[in-house]
Formats: sequence, structure tokens, C-alpha cells
Amino acid sequence: MTATVSVTGSWINGAAQVTVGHQHAVVNPANQEVVAEVASATPADVDRAVAAARSALPQWAGATPAERSTVLARLADLTEQHASELVTEEVSQTGKPVRLAQEFDVPGSVDNIRFFAGAARRLPGQATAEYSADHTSSIRREAIGVVATITPWNYPLQMAVWKVLPALAAGCSVVIKPSELTPLTTLTLARLATEAGLPDGVLNVVTGLGAEVGHALAAHPGVDLVTFTGSTAVGRKVMAAAATHGHRTQLELGGKAPFVVFDDADLDAAVHGAVAGALINSGQDCTAATRAIVARELYDDFVSGVAEVMSTVALGDPTDPATDLGPLVSLAHRDKVAGIVARAPGEGARLVIGGKVPDSAGAFYPPTLLADVDERSQAYRDEIFGPVLTVRPHTGDDDALRQANDTDYGLAASAWTRDVYRAQRASREISAGCVWINDHIPIISEMPHGGVGASGFGKDMSDYSFEEYLTIKHVMSDITAVARKPWHRTVFAHRT
Ligand code: NAD
Repeated sequence: MTATVSVTGSWINGAAQVTVGHQHAVVNPANQEVVAEVASATPADVDRAVAAARSALPQWAGATPAERSTVLARLADLTEQHASELVTEEVSQTGKPVRLAQEFDVPGSVDNIRFFAGAARRLPGQATAEYSADHTSSIRREAIGVVATITPWNYPLQMAVWKVLPALAAGCSVVIKPSELTPLTTLTLARLATEAGLPDGVLNVVTGLGAEVGHALAAHPGVDLVTFTGSTAVGRKVMAAAATHGHRTQLELGGKAPFVVFDDADLDAAVHGAVAGALINSGQDCTAATRAIVARELYDDFVSGVAEVMSTVALGDPTDPATDLGPLVSLAHRDKVAGIVARAPGEGARLVIGGKVPDSAGAFYPPTLLADVDERSQAYRDEIFGPVLTVRPHTGDDDALRQANDTDYGLAASAWTRDVYRAQRASREISAGCVWINDHIPIISEMPHGGVGASGFGKDMSDYSFEEYLTIKHVMSDITAVARKPWHRTVFAHRT
């Protein structure tokens, strides 16, 4: 299974742009073969993409909700019809296992597109009413304008959909810059959107490196909102670039999710949940379970149980449906993960399983378990973004919740208990955008995703995300037809 795209480039104003100049290769991390050559957008391309989005905005923002919804529903159907092409591209450029792409990435994206096709027809707001006796007040929700969005490589199609669809549903036009490592499915999405009837210029894709094309887009004076999914360090740069023009931002950043196991937890469920939650997408998931904080009473059994399940996970060719775990996204990223794990024993951790780079041309890294990690160690504090679970014991509920919150991040967390009061306390006291009870990872289009603290702010998915792309305008109409209004007394009392 190999993606057929060979040479491609940005998508501007409804057409592919293969500009002369710098090209970068998209490499299959499983075998280091070049999947595509992609022409990098030039600064002039970024200008043209923003200009195309600006000129397409009035027509798209002025379309009725039903008209927008119809186009987006068609896009959902086309995305579903092109599922196998999208799966092939996603597997080739990311190395993720084909089962994950088939059962999660593509159907999840289709469902999300369908959700926003529906959301386009439900503008939220307070009821029109006479909140003042002399006026009728109403709320208008209007498209925020031109949206610049920058996305990461871990779930390229889903991350694009999470940003682009609420914007389109709201009547915004978009310029998106996908990760240079994984632009293919975003380009296919844009092509399908045109096929679905999206007017030219409403959705544009600029390809290329973050520090060049991404920065040029985030700092562009012609955009109204900059949305970003990626690392905390880059998110802060994007925020600074957008701030040059005072533009709004929405940032979905890194995570270091705690996985809290209380002493009454179902151990089998916690063990399997931890392995699945830590290894999904080779651990390259911002909500992945990374810090297991386990009741002292269950600790040894949890560690041996996780090691046993991890040892059954099949690492290999991502195109083989029997494979559980593919490679990491690149050799450079594999080396970063390997480096953090290699340093962990020196920082007090016990390597229980994994931690050895296999002999392969691909960027493979095995399921890895680090027990007894020190709270100050890099493996415990930094986002590793690999198939690595760290484990520490806790001595009781207060200690467990303290450890869970001992992080700058706040994207996701889970609590494992059969006690409803403990579950409620954990969901109340853990500082994160999502707290799962007795599960870890599932997401759903109707519910929001987004963090607090170093994990960013604002929401993806759900009606909450839709609202990020709409302005709120209050229209207040006098209903008295009185020329000299009573309140004028506060300014010129002698004339009323
Ligand atoms: P990254 O921050 O390195 O890159 C993200 C995007 O930013 C890429 O398109 C990149 O080209 C671009 N970029 C890089 N430098 C830039 C700059 N100076 N100006 C503008 N754009 C720039 O992230 P990544 O390595 O692609 O993805 C992994 C990260 O994404 C992890 O930290 C992960 O937690 C995070 N992530 C978060 C969520 C979430 O919803 N919170 C979801 C997925 C991934």
C-alpha cells in the first residue's frame, strides 16, 4: 500500500499550485521511502491564499446556513467515499497502523464533518427580548472572517477537520498549513471540498515548513483569527506572531495526561486501559496516558500486568492489518523519544519493558514502561510523544490528586475507581479539559476537546468549537420612538 501522489503543492483558490522553487519530501516513516514531493509555498503564495480567502468570504458568509450545510454534508459523503484513498495517504505519511486509520481517523473525520454540517444550521444565542423596557435586544452571530490554521502531524486529517469544519460551518474562509511531514490528506480534503461545491477560495492549503510558511501565515495582517494545534513551544510562537496585529488565537497544545488508579479500581480494566491509552497512535497523541499514578496496594500487580500486555503488542508494518503499533513519525522523533528513555534510569526510573531501538530502517520504537519514575525527571514531566508509559505509586486519594495536578499541562486525565464519590472528586479536582472515568482516550463529535494551562485554550469539536468562529453582535433597537429620551438627563438635564 503506497500513496500514489508524487508531486503536489499548495491548494489556492480551488486549484493545485505546484510552484517552481523549493520542494520538500514526504517520507514514509516505516521504510524511509519518499511518498511525495511537495512544493513549498512562497511568501507570495501565502499572500495569494489569504487574498483568495478574503475575497471568497462575503459570498460564503452570506450563504444561508442551509446552503453551507448542504455543501458540508456533501463533503462528508465524499470523504466517506474516498476513505480508502485517505487511509492509504494517512498510513503512508504518518506510519500509523492501517486499523487505526480505517477505524478511527477516517470515520472520526467523516462524523465530525457531518456534525458541523448540522451545526451550521443552529446559531446559538440568547432570545430576542425587551431586557430594557425601551428597547428590543437581539444577538447576531456572524462569521469571524478569515481563519489561519496550523496543524500537526499526529492525526493530520482529523486535526484539519477539527479546525476547518467549524470555521466553514460558521461562514468563515480558511487558509490551513498542515505539518510539512504530513500534508497529503489535508490537500485531499481541500480537493474534495471543491468537488462538494465549496466555492473557490473558501478553503486554501499552504504547504511548507513551520518557521517559514507557518510563521508567515500566523503573522499575516490579512487574517482575523489564528487557530493552532501543536506543541506548547510552537503555540506560544504562533500566539506572539498573531499578537503583532492583535489577532485572536485558539491554541490546542501539548499534554501529559495523568492516569489515576485508586485502590478499589478494577485492575484488569486499568491495565488494559493504560496500555491502550499509552500506545494509541504509538503514543503520539496529545491526550495519551503518560503518567500512571497507582495506589500502592495495586502498584506491583499494575506494573507486571502492563508489562505483560505490552509484550503482546505487535510492532511492525503499518499496512498489515495484524500490526498494532507502527513506527514513530520520523527518525528524528524516534531519536528524541529514545533519548528521553535512555536518560530515565539515570534519573531514578526502572526500565521494565521496551526502551531498545529495533534494528530497522523504519522509525520503530517498542512499547516501553518506566516504573518508579522520579517526579522531577524529564520522562515524567516532559511530553515524550512516544509509546512510553511512566508509573509512580500514590499513598491515598489526596496524594493521587496532588500528583495528577503536578504538571503545567491540563489537556486530559483519567480516574479509575468503582466508588462514585471518588470519581466525582477526581472529575472536580483534576485540572484538565477532559476527565475520563474508567476509560481513557474516547472522543465524540458532540463533546468539546481542549485544555487549560500549558495545554492551551479554546475548544475543538462540539458546539463550543463552533462558537470560536462566530462573533457576537448585540443589536439594540429603540421601541419608544421618543426623540428626547429619559436617559439623556444624565448628559443634559435642562433639555428633557
Ligand atoms: P509542532 O508544534 O512542532 O508543529 C505544529 C505545526 O506548527 C506544524 O504545522 C509546524 O510546521 C508548525 N510550525 C512549526 N514552527 C512554527 C512557527 N514558528 N510558526 C508557525 N508554525 C510553526 O507540533 P507537531 O510536532 O507537529 O505535533 C505534536 C504536538 O502537537 C504535540 O505537542 C501534541 O501534544 C500536540 N497536539 C495537540 C493536540 C491538542 O488537541 N491539544 C492535538 C494533536 C497534537
